Amino acid sequence: MVSFAAWATLAGVLALNAGPMREPDDHSFGTPEHVLVNHLDLTLDVDFAAKVITSEAKLAIERTSQDVSQPLVLDTKGLAIQSVEASADGKTFAKAPFALGKDDPILGQSLTISLPEKVHSVTIRYATGPRATALQWLTPEQTAGKQHPYLFTQSQAIDARTWIPLQDSPGVRITYTARVKVPEALTAVMSAARLPNRLPKGEFSYEMKQSIPPYLIALAVGDLEFRKLGPRTGVYAEPSVLTKAAAEFSEMEEMVTACEALYGPYRWERYDVLVMPPSFPFGGMENPRLTFASPTVLAGDKSLVSLLAHELAHSWSGNLVSNATWRDFWLNEGFTVYLERRIMEAVYGKARADVEAVLGKRSLLREMAELSKPDQILHIELKGRRPDDGLTDVPYEKGALFLKHLEAVYGRVPLDRFLKAYFKRFAFQSITTATFEKYLEERFLKYGIAKAIEANAKEWLYEPGIPSDAPKPVAEALTKVEAHAKAFAAGTTAAADLPAAKLSTQEWLHFLDALPADLGNARMAELDKAFSLTKSGNSEVVFQWLLLAIQHGYEPAYPRLEGFLTEQGRRKFLKPLYEELVKTPAGKERGIAIFRKARPSYHPLSRDTVDGILGWKE
Ligand SMILES: [Zn+2]
Repeated sequence: MVSFAAWATLAGVLALNAGPMREPDDHSFGTPEHVLVNHLDLTLDVDFAAKVITSEAKLAIERTSQDVSQPLVLDTKGLAIQSVEASADGKTFAKAPFALGKDDPILGQSLTISLPEKVHSVTIRYATGPRATALQWLTPEQTAGKQHPYLFTQSQAIDARTWIPLQDSPGVRITYTARVKVPEALTAVMSAARLPNRLPKGEFSYEMKQSIPPYLIALAVGDLEFRKLGPRTGVYAEPSVLTKAAAEFSEMEEMVTACEALYGPYRWERYDVLVMPPSFPFGGMENPRLTFASPTVLAGDKSLVSLLAHELAHSWSGNLVSNATWRDFWLNEGFTVYLERRIMEAVYGKARADVEAVLGKRSLLREMAELSKPDQILHIELKGRRPDDGLTDVPYEKGALFLKHLEAVYGRVPLDRFLKAYFKRFAFQSITTATFEKYLEERFLKYGIAKAIEANAKEWLYEPGIPSDAPKPVAEALTKVEAHAKAFAAGTTAAADLPAAKLSTQEWLHFLDALPADLGNARMAELDKAFSLTKSGNSEVVFQWLLLAIQHGYEPAYPRLEGFLTEQGRRKFLKPLYEELVKTPAGKERGIAIFRKARPSYHPLSRDTVDGILGWKE
């Protein structure tokens, strides 16, 4: 293996898509420093009965080194490769020899394709396998409408390779087109622009002209309808959910405008949101042009729309400027959490953003206490591990806290100017932590060495823990809520005397969280009677309440606990609830009984998480 320094210099000199220097990606077999994929033409035939996508992927490639003996190396996982052809001109194709490498449980298999000296593209015919973790096939019962099946993809972090053979590294950006064939009654949507081609029923054609990392290629197929929200915003959902979703997201256009005012133009033309079926394992996924969002954010009162602000902010941080490897994930998420709070502040006011910042930091401190030192580092080491191991509050909240710290050091206006310039400078590029660090130094050079020392970037980026001068967000509203919680726990305030009607959702969450685990069931019942917490329609509130209920063994909430754990599959909710359950033998038994029923409807990612918590073996 060539040493890193030599390798990076070589790649820097030769990379034809001259961007920032390429760094090795521990999570890809690809060798883009020799042969680079830069465009994909995809045809997909979606077979719900067989739960298989049959596909043809035509990859436009270019040699990026002088060594013309170098093959094309792609990432695959569980794909059944039928044929591979290569072409020197993109028109006439000839069979190309290929070999699949040894199967790695995390990375899958390399697909090495021998190429002629002069090469323009390769075409791969293949079918997805039964363990394609990016694909979730839902039965009609698992959808809101209960009439039609549903399919959606989740490619982040390294699952694009389970449905498309690619250089599946966030450092390799491609454009793509897709032609999709689905059952006639269903609609296919993608993270791309729908082309107005006249096609037979059940066929769709998409194009993504802006270059994106493979983890942002996304497809969903179902009984979907669309409603316009603004000139360039709209929502897709199953028919029965559409009206509720449109009402909840009515401020979407305003959010896009607020973000543009701060960080420069929205570069993806349209911003639509697809409301997912309940088993979606995440809150949202920032697929470009089309955010996938969990229906658990539809609280009915816009109290959970910060999630939308988060996914929208990814249109700048993450999608426009992407992490080059999963070690740099904080560049996607830390920036996005910071931007999200700025959007919330612009649209809903400072008090709301302050509350979110306090809750964010609290959650970070709690998680940090459980994490090993290396995992507390923004530029995390992930070699030999799953990128998902880095999916903690560290990249999100510590990353955001770092930017908040830079804001405190340099001032808000200079930081905004920096961010705007950053998004312009690195637009449609994937960068590393080192590239960010260098750019930060350059841009803030004029503020002098004292400020640079104060900024303390090295400790923030490469050391565990949280630097002692980190911002300490405060929110007056939350301090009041804590006082209420204390008074209630001490028995000096009755539930009926709490100013419940005046509390926002975020304040409610904080109130419940501030209650001790030994209130006693009589006081739990008192709270429940006064505020119908067991019956709450707000997913975050009910989640926080159920945690308390498990801690107390508060039985009246158990039917709801079972319902909540079976009706939705968002990992953020499942993980803490099951973790709380396994703390007692009776709880564990209950957890296993619920999981036995719920498991088939969970997404594989959520399933794996809970398998681990319960020690479940199939
Ligand atoms: Zn995010």
